[in-house]
Amino acid sequence: MSTSTFYEVADDRPAGAGLVAAAPIAAGTAVADFADRPVHTVPSVYTIQVGVAEHVDSPTVRYLNHSCAANVFVDTVARIVITMRAIGQGEELTFFYPSTEWAMVRPFACLCAAPDCIGMVQGAYFLPSDVLARYPLSPHIRKLDADRGGPSRDRPPVPGSGS
Ligand SMILES: [Zn+2]
Repeated sequence: MSTSTFYEVADDRPAGAGLVAAAPIAAGTAVADFADRPVHTVPSVYTIQVGVAEHVDSPTVRYLNHSCAANVFVDTVARIVITMRAIGQGEELTFFYPSTEWAMVRPFACLCAAPDCIGMVQGAYFLPSDVLARYPLSPHIRKLDADRGGPSRDRPPVPGSGS
């Protein structure tokens, strides 16, 4: 397993193993780089989606857990993990899985307890476009979302609205 000065793998997270800040990390810091990892055409429970049909498994980035109030962003173009805000020592590094994953191999119920928690984490496909729009998204997710017909495709009709 590769090591990082920014985080360590902790196996005591509610969702299983996770990455925990080993020291305070400033906002905008690239804490991991997975550009050297091979690209697969088939996803697994460990991969991160980096393109419409491209998936990468990194031996450490695979431990990044999901949160609906994430503190890091997985940049699938630069293939780095970057902090979106300052992170305190001992705080878990988390990213918003639907920002990279369109349809996940193994959906799960989110435990993040954020006020706007999405509940079931299944991939961006399963979220309405207007919910997705609240989050930073990877280019392939933006493209797949746009290709399915634009904003609010999944919003149910409002009774009495005349539409
Ligand atoms: Zn959540």
